[in-house]
Amino acid sequence: MVSSNTPATPTARPRKARGEGQWALGHREPLNPNERSKKDDNPLNVRARIENIYAHGGFASIDPADLRGRFRWWGLYTQRKAGIDGGRTAILEPEELEDEYFMLRVRIDGGGLNLAQLRTIAGISTEFGRDSADLTDRQNIQLHWIRVEDMPEIWKRLEAVGLQTTEACGDCPRVVLGSPVAGISTDEVLDGTPAIDEIIKRYVGDPRYSNLPRKFKSQVSWLADGPYETNDISFVGVEHPDHGPGFDLWIGGGLSTNPRLAERLGVWVPIGEIPDVWEGVVGVFRDYGYRRLRHRARLKFLLADWGVAKFREILEKEYLGRALLDGPAPELPAKPIDHIGVHKQRDGRNYVGAAPVVGRSSGTQLSKLADLTEAAGSDRVRLTAYQKLLVLDVAEENVEGLIRGLREIGLEARPSAWRRGTMACTGIEYCKLAIVETKARGQELVTRLEERLKDFDADISIHINGCPNACARTQVADIGLKGQLVMNSRGEQVEGFQVHLGGGLGMAQGQSSGFGRKVRGLKATAEELPEYVERVARNYLAGRTDGEAFAN
Ligand code: SF4
Repeated sequence: MVSSNTPATPTARPRKARGEGQWALGHREPLNPNERSKKDDNPLNVRARIENIYAHGGFASIDPADLRGRFRWWGLYTQRKAGIDGGRTAILEPEELEDEYFMLRVRIDGGGLNLAQLRTIAGISTEFGRDSADLTDRQNIQLHWIRVEDMPEIWKRLEAVGLQTTEACGDCPRVVLGSPVAGISTDEVLDGTPAIDEIIKRYVGDPRYSNLPRKFKSQVSWLADGPYETNDISFVGVEHPDHGPGFDLWIGGGLSTNPRLAERLGVWVPIGEIPDVWEGVVGVFRDYGYRRLRHRARLKFLLADWGVAKFREILEKEYLGRALLDGPAPELPAKPIDHIGVHKQRDGRNYVGAAPVVGRSSGTQLSKLADLTEAAGSDRVRLTAYQKLLVLDVAEENVEGLIRGLREIGLEARPSAWRRGTMACTGIEYCKLAIVETKARGQELVTRLEERLKDFDADISIHINGCPNACARTQVADIGLKGQLVMNSRGEQVEGFQVHLGGGLGMAQGQSSGFGRKVRGLKATAEELPEYVERVARNYLAGRTDGEAFAN
């Protein structure tokens, strides 16, 4: 374990505060259509219209401003019409790209599901979602093929077991990530889950925080076992020499086309104060965040212009009314922690981490997973921010039976390095912004690499993204792939990827976290991709020195 230092502040062009649409500076008139839509009607209000009007009138009855804007606050996006190639993504109008079906994101704050919840999601998937279910890299489960007519019944079922889709998407506080091993890990000193629960109870669905400049991504976790440096706000566990265990506050991370790692504010927050401090940071973002251009609206842009010291001062003086305690930097892991395999819990039982391929699951698989979990004597499953899952509380005598059962349903607790380290975003199959296919490509890639480099023994991460938005964290993978159209050797425009090499989160092998380098001119067609990755991997194997990680 090594100590972190505050990441260097990237240089940012100073910009004039005025004209950015900041509420705190008196700019309340919307400067773009998204801001107009949010001002016209609080997006949370669309739930009543879905239940009372659209569910009866069907897709054709939906007001376009609700359909393409406010629906997201309830986890609903229209999905891409089948058969539209990536070359037409930027050309077509939204209504030409979209299908009459929806993607529905179920938020699973902290990543924990009990069997009743797992079975409920599985049932909704098979009954209403054509058996679709993807494990996302934010501990959500995403369903597809959902009809607006079915939403009242779906909400009824989800809410009966304590699940919700409230603010699962939209310019609002999205799912709060937690450690998949919170409360059971032998390495954890303080479980952050009560703080997550309190944030959800107090602020999710609260109209005061439902109109933010852009999405707001959070994490509370003693262990740095999620993408804490790419969130808008993260609380990471740290021991204070005088005050004991608490949390170190990071803010302003985000990827997409202007990637930026989060920075430490340098403060120590006791667990009981996390919800208030979280609310303060959201308040700063709501009031001072930029609302003129969508692509400059995330918290990271405000932080880049202000710097950490000013942000802390405003937070303390205007929002908390008190000074925060200075705090030490947390201990960070030498490499990302994915919890795959069999591990001891602090109560002597085990948890088993298993991998689907690139997060693709199904209602059928989740239903069988629930049966296996129950047969292993457990009531708890957790999702990870790496599109993987864990079964908790497994007695020693049940471990091998569970692993066999998981394997039979397509979940592997002893996966190859390829399956373990590969993630893919939604891609062209369903996403209206996509330029290329991702999930099927990811599955083909893993299969091919497992055949050709079966015994590859290093940790490697491959993140496949269907466009520059980097939902599967392009820039922080060993091999990050950004979908775009490229020329093949015959001069034809085809699906392909810009390659980023050598990115990583955490303190990979003693090096600071950092973004992968875009390799100048290096683009691979989708067809060439398996061969390209194989070549990179073979070069690494041939040239590595003792213990040298792929990331190096
Ligand atoms: Fe869609 Fe692009 Fe995000 Fe992939 S990275 S899910 S293609 S927006």
